Amino acid sequence: MMKAYNRLSDKEVMVKAAKVTTISFLLIHVAYFTIFLIIGAYFLVYFNIFSVLFYALMYLLIIKGRLLTFSYLTLIEIPIHMMAGSICLGFDCGFQLCIIGLPTMVCIAGYFSRKVSSGFKVIPSCLFLVVSYFIIYFYTRYHDPYYDIADYWEITLFVIHAFITFAFIIVFLYGIVLYAYSLEKRILKDSRTDKLTQIPNRKALEEFYEKIKDNRNDYVLAIYDIDDFKKFNDVNGHLCGDYVLKEIAQLSKDKLYGDFICRWGGEEFVVLSRVDSSYDDTINKLDSIRSGIELHNFKYYRKNLKSTITMGAQTYVDGMDLDEWIRSADAKLYEGKKNGKNQLVH
Ligand code: GH3
Ligand code: MG
Ligand code: MG
Repeated sequence: MMKAYNRLSDKEVMVKAAKVTTISFLLIHVAYFTIFLIIGAYFLVYFNIFSVLFYALMYLLIIKGRLLTFSYLTLIEIPIHMMAGSICLGFDCGFQLCIIGLPTMVCIAGYFSRKVSSGFKVIPSCLFLVVSYFIIYFYTRYHDPYYDIADYWEITLFVIHAFITFAFIIVFLYGIVLYAYSLEKRILKDSRTDKLTQIPNRKALEEFYEKIKDNRNDYVLAIYDIDDFKKFNDVNGHLCGDYVLKEIAQLSKDKLYGDFICRWGGEEFVVLSRVDSSYDDTINKLDSIRSGIELHNFKYYRKNLKSTITMGAQTYVDGMDLDEWIRSADAKLYEGKKNGKNQLVH
């Protein structure tokens, strides 16, 4: 369900929810129709034929994208239906309970309508529901029901209405909880991902560093910078530079199964690689990023381009914080640049 939310746009979520709600309402009215026919409450039987047709029409409105009209018309139909039910069969049948459940739908509809700026009015709609509830309460207090029905029908209808109301509140609130959760996850992930290369960013590095703080001695930090990167921008344009950055990020990721990598900024990357077997193995793994890039043919339109990187790697020295660790690795990177580039200094 959460995955589905991730893929759908806000408008699509609204349309989907509106369709499910309309079909549920239509089925509820078919059930009402049957019950009222059995009870012999014929006014409500006719009313429900109207309601079934009404919800079929609402489905068409949703398909046509008229969500605002659908929302307001549904908001009017339900209280009117509940008033008719209460006037005909009395307060004890619990029609008014459904009105209590409706503000959850109204608020959620308001939330989504704000996102697509369709202007659905939440407070006036809720006030309308409050007024409808009290009209039912006061009317039924001073008037007897139009139809006299058996006690067990009263109880049955009350239980049905209580059940519908609970189901309504739970489904809508739980739905919005799932939606909010998936949205939060997506925003959190986006805020820790570099937009261009789709690998983690500096913020993600800070978080990863906090996570491994107690085992920093098991890691080697490497920082690398693309050599003569400016020439890609200058000779083939900025988009070519972007392409090389993306390609290098992907090539690096492929060499670093399980290790942390991020775009540190510009054309610089940082890797935190865990020393699993030996320091030399880790250095060899890091150097394989460099040699992999050196050997790679970057194909930009018809052009074959080559690129290299220079890398500085540094083990953790007690007392360093993240900035000092990076600075230390950066000093080695600078040394590599001075000594002719395309090398790993450690
Ligand atoms: P060196 O070998 O000394 O590192 O030379 P260099 O040309 O790579 O170094 P320099 O730091 O002078 O140039 C880096 C350039 O990277 C400058 C900047 O315009 C470019 N750059 C930074 N971020 C991006 C980006 O996201 N896309 C593109 N296309 N270029 C970028
Ligand atoms: Mg550079
Ligand atoms: Mg640079």
